[in-house]
Amino acid sequence: MSPAADPSCLFCKIIEGKIPSSKVYEDDDMLVFHDIHPWAPVHFLMVPKVHLASMAQVGPEHEALLGRMMSLAPKLALQEGCRPYPEGGFRVVINTGQEGGQEVQHLHVHVIGGPRPWLKG
Ligand code: 5GP
Ligand code: ZN
Repeated sequence: MSPAADPSCLFCKIIEGKIPSSKVYEDDDMLVFHDIHPWAPVHFLMVPKVHLASMAQVGPEHEALLGRMMSLAPKLALQEGCRPYPEGGFRVVINTGQEGGQEVQHLHVHVIGGPRPWLKG
């Protein structure tokens, strides 16, 4: 396990390959995989490889990483089956903290889309 990982963290285990996932994209800084309980025809999670508990822990040192994640999201959304803007599109969600509805305490960006109706949202 890398020093940046938290041994008790589900997404760190997925990043390290200890728990399987359905991979969409990977590079040195992030892993993208399908959500196990999709809300919609397209639903994947973009996860930084460094263990950051949530958006609340983000600082200036993470700006480049988050910027790259945001600029990659539209490309991966199209690749995964979202129709182009404006008829298609997608939703980006980052749940943060208990009142923000966060269940897994490792920062992740939900990208959700595809033809409606959706299960949620
Ligand atoms: P949160 O509520 O923290 O924003 O979202 C956590 C997401 O992680 C949920 O949508 C849930 O379905 C997904 N999830 C939880 N456990 C697993 C897992 O083991 N594998 C995958 N691929 N997704 C998971
Ligand atoms: Zn983690």
